[in-house]
Amino acid sequence: MSLALEQFLTVQPSPENHWRALILFGRNSASYKFALAHALLELTADGRDFVRMEELANPFSKHICRHLATSPKQATSASSKFLAACAQWNDGELSDAALIETTVRYGFNNVIDAFHNIGGSGNGSRFFIDQRLELKGIRVTDELHRMLEAPTASNLNREVESRWRLVETAWSLGLTVPLIEHENDGLLSTRSGNGRITITSCRDALNGYQKGKCFYCSQPISLEPGHPILAHVDHFIPFVLMPILRLNLNGVWNLVLSCQECNLAKSDAVPVMRFAESLHRRNEYLIMSHHPLRETLLAQTGLTAKERVSFIGGSYSNAVNARITQWEPRDPGPDIYDND
Ligand SMILES: [Zn+2]
Repeated sequence: MSLALEQFLTVQPSPENHWRALILFGRNSASYKFALAHALLELTADGRDFVRMEELANPFSKHICRHLATSPKQATSASSKFLAACAQWNDGELSDAALIETTVRYGFNNVIDAFHNIGGSGNGSRFFIDQRLELKGIRVTDELHRMLEAPTASNLNREVESRWRLVETAWSLGLTVPLIEHENDGLLSTRSGNGRITITSCRDALNGYQKGKCFYCSQPISLEPGHPILAHVDHFIPFVLMPILRLNLNGVWNLVLSCQECNLAKSDAVPVMRFAESLHRRNEYLIMSHHPLRETLLAQTGLTAKERVSFIGGSYSNAVNARITQWEPRDPGPDIYDND
């Protein structure tokens, strides 16, 4: 396991953050992990301890069908019997019962075994125990139940969906993903041909890498539209400096999520120095999440860690020189990246 990943897991460890490491940092070769994550979150919200494979197969396959309908590539390798069945179901050529039967037989190859693998290791929290051989199902663990009891647990479904959208966009563009940027309406998009394609909500994509907390004061934030603690998308180096600094301040590298209070109080000021270090740390996490954020961050901030440190450092001092006011939250909680 890399040092950065270890830091992500050991600073403020919780089942929620271990789950995030599995979803956000795993090397994906197929989208089955995301479908399984969605199915687990939905089926176990009622507190149950055991899920039969037939029960799991229903939401699991339906999520794959839903994504196949808009993004035909759902794996890096050739299509499988399972994906073919999902495509048939989408075309109305397969019954629900037949889809579930095919899913139980072929759909879970590798994904149940691989779900808990992270950075070459399968250690740490487990969200279910494989009991397919003895009981034809999976046993749900206390870690999963505890995670779902958190007040912001509904964010996790959004984070899975967003990560899935990013990965399938990378596959559909053949992994040569142009830069991902922020649009005015809180969405991330990329260029494709002559136009732009919208990928996902900026909030949903970034929340997990901040462990669901405000980048500046560490208070919990929400991804639910209309929620009183809804996250704000904040330009770390203020957007008004874009013409002066001649930097792409709408790039993902410069976007963080904050609570409303911090966003309004910070306004057009530049944060104090220690937050530039946190930004570098956060960006290294985005790079660990593989395509397409990895490629985007490498292109936007440098190919090596040394180049990226100097990019952030240089951009930050230029911003400080261009802006007299510096800002920090009045009541910062424990640093989410432990940079103190
Ligand atoms: Zn805040």
